Parts: sequence; C-alpha cells; structure tokens
Amino acid sequence: MRQEFEKDHHHTALDRLFRYAEFLKFGEVHIKFDHATGLRAIIAIHNSKRGPALGGCRLVHYATSDDALEDALRLAHMMSLKAAISNLPHGGAKAVLLLPSHEIHDRKKYMEVFAGFVQDLNGRYITAVDSGTDTSDMNIIATITSYVSGYATANDDGNPSPYTGFGVRRGIEAAVKFRLGKDNLEGIHVAIQGVGHAGYALAKELHAAGARLTLADVNQPMLERCAAEFGATICPPNAIYDVVADVFAPCAFGSILNLETIKRLRVPIVAGSANNQLAHQHYSVVLREHNILYAPDFVINSGGLIYCAAMYAHADPAKARIQVGGLYDTLMTIFNRSHLENRSTSEIAEMIALEALR
Ligand code: NAD
Repeated sequence: MRQEFEKDHHHTALDRLFRYAEFLKFGEVHIKFDHATGLRAIIAIHNSKRGPALGGCRLVHYATSDDALEDALRLAHMMSLKAAISNLPHGGAKAVLLLPSHEIHDRKKYMEVFAGFVQDLNGRYITAVDSGTDTSDMNIIATITSYVSGYATANDDGNPSPYTGFGVRRGIEAAVKFRLGKDNLEGIHVAIQGVGHAGYALAKELHAAGARLTLADVNQPMLERCAAEFGATICPPNAIYDVVADVFAPCAFGSILNLETIKRLRVPIVAGSANNQLAHQHYSVVLREHNILYAPDFVINSGGLIYCAAMYAHADPAKARIQVGGLYDTLMTIFNRSHLENRSTSEIAEMIALEALR
C-alpha cells in the first residue's frame, strides 16, 4: 500500500494524493491553516457509508507535509476497516495536526480553532484522542463542538486506553487458545514493546491474568515503574525482538514488522496495540510462513474506538467493555478462517471488514 505514495519526479504531490486516494477508495480531505495559532490541520474522511466518520486527532511532528497527508489517508482508511469489523455505526476518518517547529504558545486557543474546523464539517467527522493529544484537549474541543468523544464527564474520565488494553488482552487470550491450546494466560510470557498509554494498560491486564512480562521502552522512569508494579523483566529497546516468549506485543509505533525483525522473532504469536505494525502488507504472509500467528492490528486494537463510539452515543461504558470482550470471538473467527482458507490473518480480516463496508 505504502509504495503507492512513493515520491517520483514525474508527478506533483497533488497527482500522488489523487492516485493514493483512488487506491484507498476515498473520500474527502479537508485542510485548514490558522496564522494566529500556527494550526496546520488535515482531516481525511475515508468513508461515511455506515455513519459519521470517527477517528482520533494526532498532533505529531512530520518531516514533510506529504508525509502528514499520507499518514492521514492511511490511518483514515484503517479506521473505516476498524469500525466496520466491530460493526460500529461509523465510517473512518483521521485528523492530523502538524506539530509546529516552535512551541504552541496557547494550546487552548489552538484546540479551539481545530474544534471550529471540526464543527464546520457539520458532523461528518467526529474527533477523539490519538498520539500527541489527550483528554484535556478533548475537554477544550467539547466546549466548541459536540462532534467529539473521549472527554471527561461526571462519571467517566474519557480515556480510551484501558479499553484498548483490555481488547488486546482478549485478543492474546484468543491467540493463546488457538495456537497453544491454553484456556488462560497463567504463566504465559509476553514481551511488550512500549509501555505508554496502551502498553501500560495491557501490562496491567496481563499481570492480573497471571502472565509473565518482559518490557522495553525508551522512557526509563516509566519502564522502571512498570517493572516494579508488575514484577516484570526489563530489556533494552532493540533486544525486544530477540526475547524467547509466547507472545510479542508491539505497543509503541508502526512499521516494526519487516523482513529483518520477523527473522529475529522467537515467539509463536504477535499480538499488540500498535497501528500499522506491518511495514508492508505482504509481511502478514511472511509471518505465516514463519509459523507466527499474527493478530491483525486494526482488529485487536479496536477497543479504544469501540469505547469512543459508545461514549459519543452516551451509552453505558460497561456495555462498551462487554463489546470489547467480544474481540476474542472476532479474532478466533479470523484465526480459524485463515487456517481453513490458507490465507494470512490480515487478508481474512480485511475481507470481513470490506464486506461490512459494502
Ligand atoms: P504512547 O505514546 O502513550 O506510548 C508509546 C510508548 O512507546 C511510549 O512509552 C514510548 O516511550 C515508547 N517507545 C518509543 N520508542 C520506543 C522504542 N524504540 N522501543 C520501545 N518503546 C518505545 O502511545 P499509545 O497511545 O500507548 O499508543 C501506542 C500504539 O498503540 C500506537 O501505535 C497507537 O496508534 C496504538 N493505539 C493506541 C490506542 C490507545 O488507546 N492508546 C488505541 C489504538 C491504537
């Protein structure tokens, strides 16, 4: 997929955008600048067939605006698949805010201007937290527009990460049952890459379920806190791929599964929260050839989205948790079909999601 957007000298950035958008079957792309706050924002709406498009708002640094645009398109496409496979009444979208080189002087004003941009789309896009934004930003956005989820209310802190962590745990339980024939996680060894919001929530879930943990992160204080809290072993960031374990759980960033890292893995299962784990679509087939069971990222990490959809509908968070628990069955279906149809788990998951998008 990624190579579709590769830079070449014969086409302009806009030519490449249209080609890539056509490949992913978009959709709309909206752009906003604001001189006063330095806001440079892209909202990519992939598909609204199932309902208003829901997707997080990312505030990160990009080397070029082409990279930001590519990220917005890719992530919005994945949000459509995620919403569809979980049967949510939403399409997929993503907002990408290009982190300015200078500090954001007035974050409140910056978020208010972004909220105005969301409001201008009249509900076709609903925003939520993602890398670089948090619940406090959503609280500001909620003062300007109602097209937002993941903000604090009287009974709920608005944080989706515990739901993501719970969903990944359910996915790991399904994978362990399917691949290792075990009904619980007692004594199962999981190597987690990244103990940020999602990785920490996962570590907490796994520890409570009796799993043994090896953790890696570049944030040393956070790593030491987790090691103490969960009695976990610490390993250097680059050594996490070599850990002999039952499960490798990527929970830091995308594109970490490539030919080099796959060769190093010493686990029968890869199942984690990170988005876009495969550096190339084809690597799901390579994982299968290495006899590694891969839990497709957009399925196993959809707990946060399920929670945000429920919160937007003012539904009971307890019901959202039950729905997230159902990821066990969704993944078990994917594993079984992958085995029976001799196709990679990613191919099967995409087929099911695309069917639900028709
Ligand atoms: P985060 O920024 O809170 O956590 C990422 C962690 O990875 C940080 O602790 C960071 O220090 C660590 N890290 C960075 N470089 C590393 C390296 N080289 N080795 C090991 N660790 C490293 O982000 P998050 O919200 O926890 O999200 C993590 C991944 O999960 C992302 O890909 C995100 O898109 C995905 N995801 C998160 C959620 C959620 O609810 N938080 C939902 C769906 C998907």
